[in-house]
Amino acid sequence: MELIFAEPKGFCFGVRRAITALEKSLEENGKVYALGSPIHNPQEVERLLSKGLEIIETPSEMPAGGTVFVRAHGIPDQVMGELRARKARVLDGTCPFVSRAKDKAVLLAREGYTVMVLGDKDHPEVRAIRRSSEGSVIVVDPGSVAGLTCDGLSKVGIVSQTTQRKEVLAELVTRVSAGAGETRVFNTICDATSSRQASVARLAGSVDGIIIIGGKASANTARLFQIAAASGCPALWVEDETGLEGGWLKGKKRIGIAAGASTPDWLIQKIATILESVGSAGEDGR
Ligand code: SF4
Repeated sequence: MELIFAEPKGFCFGVRRAITALEKSLEENGKVYALGSPIHNPQEVERLLSKGLEIIETPSEMPAGGTVFVRAHGIPDQVMGELRARKARVLDGTCPFVSRAKDKAVLLAREGYTVMVLGDKDHPEVRAIRRSSEGSVIVVDPGSVAGLTCDGLSKVGIVSQTTQRKEVLAELVTRVSAGAGETRVFNTICDATSSRQASVARLAGSVDGIIIIGGKASANTARLFQIAAASGCPALWVEDETGLEGGWLKGKKRIGIAAGASTPDWLIQKIATILESVGSAGEDGR
């Protein structure tokens, strides 16, 4: 069995940066609190919990003087203020691209624009952008862009959740520009998601099947799976090695491996090693 890896795969720049800082802090302090789950990958969360991480949901759960980790998706400015007021030591893992999206939304709101945020309203990154902006903010779901009208709005400022698609942002800009008096746009999309999607689409055309590794709650992993499945290539989505299916693997000689932006390298490697051993056992038995 030959394994062919999508590139890039696994942790994006922002997640790697945040998790590396968290691990270093766990080694130094023994105990670190995370405000919300630190990453959309249950296996990686489990590993971090075993090193002394504790997940809390609100700043009020923080003991005085403790260290609190902020995940790559960021938090609203007001919540950051609460943490600092409680004298917490903040380990800020907010991805710089996420911070930029939030800062641009805040700037637009201050300058009197109605802020439109292209994104998923329930995603922590979008919630942080919306709450930090404090002005008139409209979250536009990507699925509703096609029917959007905004006649009567005089000044509209647009930013995007970092993981949205550029074509959808372009369509939103076209629609808003047609109706609003003034439109100002900051393209705050990061390439980490689109480059992973493009590599899965390429890989799907050259393998007998593709395995997508990543948490079932990870939206970017779900998208990779959808792209692979839509290509017509047999696709299997696994969170860890227990998701591998002997029946699915049977007869496949070239297998593509891709992983979401929150999938750790150690998990990708573990699954690849198992697949290699399955492959060589099959060859030996021939
Ligand atoms: S996907 Fe992009 S914006 Fe989001 S954490 Fe990764 S690098 Fe940062």
